Amino acid sequence: MAELNLFEMAQHQFNMAADKLNLERGIKDRIMFPERTLIVQFPVIMDNGNIKMFTGYRVQHNNVRGPFKGGIRFSPDVDLDEVKALASWMTWKTAVVNIPFGGAKGGVMCDPGTLSKNELEKITRRYTYEIKDIIGPDFDIPAPDVNTNAQVMAWIVDTYSMINGQNSFGVVTGKPVSLGGSYGREEATGRGVMITTIQAIKEIGIENKKLTAIVQGYGNVGSNAARLLAEKGIKIIGISDISAAVYDPDGLNLNEINEFLKKNKFLQGYTGAKSISPKEKILEMDTDILVPAAVQNQITKENADRIKARVIVEGANGPTTPDADIILNNKGIFVVPDILANAGGVIVSYFEWVQNIQEEKWSYEEVISKLEEIMIPAYDDVSALAKKEKTNMRTAAYMIAISRVAEATRNRGIFP
Ligand code: GLU
Repeated sequence: MAELNLFEMAQHQFNMAADKLNLERGIKDRIMFPERTLIVQFPVIMDNGNIKMFTGYRVQHNNVRGPFKGGIRFSPDVDLDEVKALASWMTWKTAVVNIPFGGAKGGVMCDPGTLSKNELEKITRRYTYEIKDIIGPDFDIPAPDVNTNAQVMAWIVDTYSMINGQNSFGVVTGKPVSLGGSYGREEATGRGVMITTIQAIKEIGIENKKLTAIVQGYGNVGSNAARLLAEKGIKIIGISDISAAVYDPDGLNLNEINEFLKKNKFLQGYTGAKSISPKEKILEMDTDILVPAAVQNQITKENADRIKARVIVEGANGPTTPDADIILNNKGIFVVPDILANAGGVIVSYFEWVQNIQEEKWSYEEVISKLEEIMIPAYDDVSALAKKEKTNMRTAAYMIAISRVAEATRNRGIFP
């Protein structure tokens, strides 16, 4: 297959399922492409007094089943195709777990590693101002993604609320708990990865074995997934971040690593385990479970053949290319696809939004038990359809998601 950009990759995955569903052409066209794309260019006065221009995006893919929903990422190489792909994945993600949202995504091209906190705040506030007309608690609700967090969400709430002259906590999710955030939201994506991993190892009948896992990416998703998998007795033998990868077949000391990261920010320089170089090789090490929880395009036709894991649980969005998918399939590796595996974040975002609207505060225990109540049946539905249709989990997940969005589209009809 020719090199696909990220939106072409998303389209390919969509087509595989849409073809199996025999989706009619009109509906297919209606739900494949984003409904609205906003590109903004805005100035920020940097700490040195210079004006610097930034490019930001907000892509609203589909809101047939509910308000647009999806995170905002800050990254130096974010582009329109990436944001379009990520927006469409949000549509399928919210549909496959059946929460009443559509899909959207935002991004600002910038390198947070080189920005001061003050600059980050100014970029966030000005970007919020630029997209203010198309977001809102009933219309499009952003959330954290790569390189954004609860603090960034707090700045968005504040900016949006100042502009509108009223507190609008429901305009974003993933906020600090002190500012309308939900207990359990921060770890939710990692928790969902853990829940689907447990389902997958049960399904392939290895749950009673002593299992090992490697987690690529040690940000919000990867670090929480590693911690929660370890709590379930799975030995974490490898992790990596943007700077380095470390591996120990006897198990890593996660507490020690977390302490090291508090002081040093990056893994590079950690000497408590063997370092793997280049860091991408961590994907190819011996393990039962592999959790790619970094960014897109990590498992490709170049390395897929060398992957030894029995189960891959996609914590990141789009970590596996379609070419790699074929190779993994042929090798009999069981893949829990991103739109299902990492849906825990947006599910608890939904809980946060409901709490905001109803002015309620749910306990942590309530949140995590409700998360399971949604994720486990969603997993079971995908797995049952995969068996029935003799297809893989990715195509089955898409089939369920697309059917739901298509049905809602038929019911709504086409305006005017
Ligand atoms: N950015 C996360 C994702 O890709 C969460 C989105 C949300 O909570 O709206 O699923």
